[in-house]
Amino acid sequence: MKKKLCVFVIGIVIVGLGFGATNSALAGNTGLLNDAKFDASSAAGLMSKWHKPPVTEPVRITWLGHAAFKLESGGKTVLIDPWITGNPTCPITVDDIQAADLILVTHDHGDHVGDTEAIALATGAVVLAFYDTALRFLSEGLPQENVWGWGRAVGGEIDIDGIKIVMTQATHSSDTGIAAGYIIQFPGGGTVYHAGDTGLFNEMGLYGALYPIHVALLPIGNVFTMDGRQAAISLRLLRPQVAIPMHFGTFPLLDQSADAFVDYASRYAPWTDVTVLDPGATFVLD
Ligand SMILES: [Zn+2]
Repeated sequence: MKKKLCVFVIGIVIVGLGFGATNSALAGNTGLLNDAKFDASSAAGLMSKWHKPPVTEPVRITWLGHAAFKLESGGKTVLIDPWITGNPTCPITVDDIQAADLILVTHDHGDHVGDTEAIALATGAVVLAFYDTALRFLSEGLPQENVWGWGRAVGGEIDIDGIKIVMTQATHSSDTGIAAGYIIQFPGGGTVYHAGDTGLFNEMGLYGALYPIHVALLPIGNVFTMDGRQAAISLRLLRPQVAIPMHFGTFPLLDQSADAFVDYASRYAPWTDVTVLDPGATFVLD
């Protein structure tokens, strides 16, 4: 009995130490959310300690409205959540998409799956989605050559044609599988995080520590995702060089501007450049 108790106590101490270490590591990264105490003058120095590998091949990031993005780097085109038809803020039509190599689907809701199947068939792109969502695409007739394996789940890096892709956690729902986000590491050095639809969650700090995120694409529209203030706080966890807001202004239900995000980000994470794109506009990471 004594031996069991001893093992139990040692276990508690080990778990406690681990938890403390994780918490203090995150506290060191994120600091206190106290605007008055935050020393903005040290922000540049802090950022320089967060090593990001050089970007040798530019990444062109085009917002297609809502959560839809086109990423281009090194001759490859990656679409994320290509909701084109019926998207009130999307400035293009499906016919305008001439080429795509890869389509990443964050979750199985109409405003994210969008035109995935039609674009895959027209361009020959491969679709990466959560396991259950990939099986739905296959069962509904999308050929195996257009679906990456049986899909995947939240976990580590997979390599598709030299692009390393991590599927991340997201706190949201999905008609099949669960909601996710993606960290996309291009062979030319650029790393982009698309959060999908999500609320704020502390494990973003682990993703920020594990992967050198240059650009974070973050939902800010509230109701179904983070609002501007929460998204600004997420910058302390993710530590991107650049943040681009999304999932706002599409419907009356969502926040209509990025003003709150811009304002809070300037106070909570002044080391991150916030770039607010108009639908159709492109940011180039180089
Ligand atoms: Zn959505």
